[in-house]
Amino acid sequence: MEEKCRLCNSKNIKLIKNGVRDNKNIDVFKCLNCGLEFLSNTHQADEKYYEQGQMHASYNIKNWLKSTLTDDKRRTDYLRKYITNKNILDFGTGNGGFLIQAKKYAKSVYGCDLDKSLNEHYKNNNLEVKNSLNEFSEKFDTITMFHVLEHIENPEPVITSLKEHLKPNGNLIIEVPNSEDALLTLYKSEAFKNFTYWSCHLYAYNSMNLQRLLKPIVKINKIIHIQRYPYTNHIGWLKDKKAGGHKRYHQNKIINFVYTMFLKLTKKTDTLLVIASC
Ligand SMILES: [Zn+2]
Repeated sequence: MEEKCRLCNSKNIKLIKNGVRDNKNIDVFKCLNCGLEFLSNTHQADEKYYEQGQMHASYNIKNWLKSTLTDDKRRTDYLRKYITNKNILDFGTGNGGFLIQAKKYAKSVYGCDLDKSLNEHYKNNNLEVKNSLNEFSEKFDTITMFHVLEHIENPEPVITSLKEHLKPNGNLIIEVPNSEDALLTLYKSEAFKNFTYWSCHLYAYNSMNLQRLLKPIVKINKIIHIQRYPYTNHIGWLKDKKAGGHKRYHQNKIINFVYTMFLKLTKKTDTLLVIASC
């Protein structure tokens, strides 16, 4: 286990959890200086793990696409101006759901994913996805990275290579989970804590340490707090101590609007979106 924070080098670190949901031998630490949360081990989720498609090994591709459709559409709508008539690269393509949506508006879409087991699926959906960034000689208007950064052990060289693949004035868009999610910091839900920390999320970022990581490499235009899950999901975690509350409870749109505003203002949303440029 590292004695200091890999981001700010502070030795002021604290154990915040024994064990993660899929491995009781991996602990979670937090840097009390910059707030970065990190796992005691990282080699369980190395490049080989992703290359062999182990993260999604048990997934049925149809159900997987169905489960990400809301997020894929939200991202495409929200980021429309970065997509329309642009050349896009989605780094960490996964099931390709975002590219399938973005294709309707973009000039061209490409993907990059380590997982070779998905190549057949990409081909079937007419998606051009390569397994390494080095295979791209072209540059892009927009590079997206949805819930990928937290899986990368050494993010700085990856961000630097992505920047090199951007056209002048191109945008790098990064979405990550927020370590200051209300379920953790406001409600201190043990059930959610036991669920959310897992062996593939090597780091958990907040808006401050995300800036610290990215600022030396790219220009940050804005960091936006986004709430993916409605208040009924939070009711589920707090009342039933399990996921899926938004599928069990009826949702009121006005209450959800006000609740989302509150989470944004207090910076306790579940998700962060960074818009950066080179
Ligand atoms: Zn730190």
